[in-house]
Amino acid sequence: MFEPQSCEIAVIGSGPGGAITACLLAEAGRDVLLIEEGAFLPLESCAPFSQEEMVQKYRNGGLTAALGTPKVQYVEGRCVGGGSEINSGLYHRTPAQILERWRTEFEVEGLEDADLLPHFLACEEAVTVCSLPGKPPAASLKLHEGAIKLGWESLEVPRWFRYETQDDPNLPPKGTRQSMTKTFIPRALRAGCRLRSETRINRIGRRGQKWTMWANTGEIEAETVFICGGAIQTPALLRRSGITDNIGNSLQLHPTVKAIAQFSEPVNALDMGVPVHQVKEFAPRFSFGCSISSPPYLSVGMVDHPEYMGEVHRHWENMAIYYAMITASGRGSVRTLPGFRDPLVRYRLTGEDLRNLGEGLRKLSQLLFEAGAIAVYPSLSGFGRLKRDDGDRIPEILPAASTNLMTVHLFSSCPMGENRRLCAVDSFGKIHGFENLYIADGSLLCTAPGVNPQGSIMAIARRNALQFLDKL
Ligand SMILES: Cc1cc2nc3c(=O)[nH]c(=O)nc-3n(C[C@H](O)[C@H](O)[C@H](O)COP(=O)(O)OP(=O)(O)OC[C@H]3O[C@@H](n4cnc5c(N)ncnc54)[C@H](O)[C@@H]3O)c2cc1C
Repeated sequence: MFEPQSCEIAVIGSGPGGAITACLLAEAGRDVLLIEEGAFLPLESCAPFSQEEMVQKYRNGGLTAALGTPKVQYVEGRCVGGGSEINSGLYHRTPAQILERWRTEFEVEGLEDADLLPHFLACEEAVTVCSLPGKPPAASLKLHEGAIKLGWESLEVPRWFRYETQDDPNLPPKGTRQSMTKTFIPRALRAGCRLRSETRINRIGRRGQKWTMWANTGEIEAETVFICGGAIQTPALLRRSGITDNIGNSLQLHPTVKAIAQFSEPVNALDMGVPVHQVKEFAPRFSFGCSISSPPYLSVGMVDHPEYMGEVHRHWENMAIYYAMITASGRGSVRTLPGFRDPLVRYRLTGEDLRNLGEGLRKLSQLLFEAGAIAVYPSLSGFGRLKRDDGDRIPEILPAASTNLMTVHLFSSCPMGENRRLCAVDSFGKIHGFENLYIADGSLLCTAPGVNPQGSIMAIARRNALQFLDKL
């Protein structure tokens, strides 16, 4: 019989939460094993936002949905580095009013703005958060121009990126997006952390003084376990293991409605890269941005308008995808089903959410026409395309049955805090009622942050790891 592999600290999941936790614990001289279900691939193993990337690095090739009316399609990374390997790199700190809500409603201790500041600064330095050194993509500038004409606040969002120096400021800036395999994971490995990729933990349980983890590759034992599988997989693993108090009951996400805008001049190019502007005039209720708009993404975005698919083939260079993202009041759940590998994820939008989505889409269309769009194709099935002055056709409350929503932002399924009625873990990630068992990922965020979440996840993971090491 094989002896189980053993370590002092096991970190399950290597996304931003897990990678930062493993790195700091290993650098403090602890014996750390980082366990990841997906493969260990370099960032450069495929082109960003390509079909190949979806096959290599997305869970289920990106085909996952939170069930409800309407359902919300979502994607998760499944590779060493998790979502950081496939995301856009847009960075925000957690807004002050969100932190205040987490402190008052969820009773999170040690979460004043000043408490988090050193963690934001350290993570920003580690992943090189910076602004674009050259001209932003044309599609991004369209969003900015439309906002300026309407007198709405628009900002260029910094990204985690290392740019190359370039002589011609008119050429698109070149560089490499930073991810966990570029930053914290090599640091962790240099500090002696062991990595086991392609190892999925199916269940954990207490045996004597230790935690045992049952993986597809055998058993692993650890004195302390950090679960960092992300906001869907962490509650799924805990529930499969019989740990259920406030686990997976309060999933939150940023429901997002998309619209393709067509202009009379080129705004798109194969090397366009990630658009960097966001319009925050109506935040936190809703904000606007521009998405990856490569021809395959445009074709997928046009499925609600099959009669206009030819426009993408003929005019994709004049088209780009924009979105309205809301801070929703709806919530969802994560449940496991006996005999099924994937959890059942449900999400229920409120009437207020559908109203905010309707207003968001109307205002986004107004902005796009102001920026010179000649047609807008919203992600509402059977709705037809919009021409200038058609904005009033968008229903005040988006129809649940024909609205197609998506998200890449998932959190809050195991909230942190001392309020035992709401929270799964304490203010620093230790699961209430269990010894030596922690969560360190997006599940901890008490509510939707209303901004891209990885900045919050990284800072909180760093803060909690240092608290665990008694170094705060
Ligand atoms: C396409 C896309 C674009 C995005 N753009 C941005 C952006 O611009 N800015 C931003 O801030 N955020 C962005 N995000 C969101 C951001 O990437 C996530 O919020 C972040 O990665 C979540 O970190 P995490 O540590 O919670 O979990 P994840 O990154 O999801 O990592 C969890 C890891 O754990 C592994 N795992 C899960 N269960 C197990 C198990 N049982 N055993 C072993 N391993 C397991 C998974 O395979 C995965 O690799 C984007 C996400 C996507 C998908």
